Amino acid sequence: MKQRPKYIIMIGPQASGKGTYSKAIVEKYGVVHISSGQLLRDNIKNETRLGKKAKPYIDAGNLVPDKIIIKIIKKRLKEKDAKDGAVFDGFPRTLSQARSIIKYVGVSAVVYANISDEIVFERAAGRLTCENCGSISGVKYIKQGQKCACGGEYKVREDDTKEVIARRLANFHEITKPVVRFFERVIDAQGQKIFIEIDATGSIESVNKNVLASLEKLFNYSKKEAKKAGKVTDGTN
Ligand code: ADP
Repeated sequence: MKQRPKYIIMIGPQASGKGTYSKAIVEKYGVVHISSGQLLRDNIKNETRLGKKAKPYIDAGNLVPDKIIIKIIKKRLKEKDAKDGAVFDGFPRTLSQARSIIKYVGVSAVVYANISDEIVFERAAGRLTCENCGSISGVKYIKQGQKCACGGEYKVREDDTKEVIARRLANFHEITKPVVRFFERVIDAQGQKIFIEIDATGSIESVNKNVLASLEKLFNYSKKEAKKAGKVTDGTN
């Protein structure tokens, strides 16, 4: 049976490990990784019209306008590799973005990586990002300028300064927390919740395991319910 595409949203503050857990989801479900931050940085690097518009917002630690990011995401979703599903990392961050993606592709699951502000500061201020592929490592493990496996150099991201980290965190609480509350109430076609909350404080391995096990439970439950109702689906909307 051909499975329906899975569109999974990874939501959480900066440095909550969204990118890392997204990669585990990509491996398990064979979906593509769509990181809104990385798409924006690529647009800036390539000096696209949308990238030029987005840059001042990112530099200040503010969200880029919905119109810009929604355009970028929809364009990415039109590519062939996104037809079997995707894990969205960093998108949606506003209620308007959330409503727009539900309408556009439907959402199978939402994983909220919950973490305290103190740990966000500790992690974000101590991370280096590959300028080429966006992979992240801690200053404890590598030095600035060190080469990543892809050939790019690890650098401090321009928006990882103390002030900008604080601004982004404030925006998360003010603007993105309502999105978390919104998804908490969303019910899928089988009448079940699609929302999963994970404590993202532990080690990468343990959080990864928790994320994958919770998703599997959600998808298996949906499969059973759909069978009972005589519908052929894998539990996605
Ligand atoms: P982090 O998760 O560390 O904040 P990201 O790479 O996800 O980093 O995002 C970097 C910046 O890109 C954000 O601070 C914001 O300015 C912009 N951005 C990313 N995703 C979105 C989005 N969905 N809506 C608006 N702005 C976004």
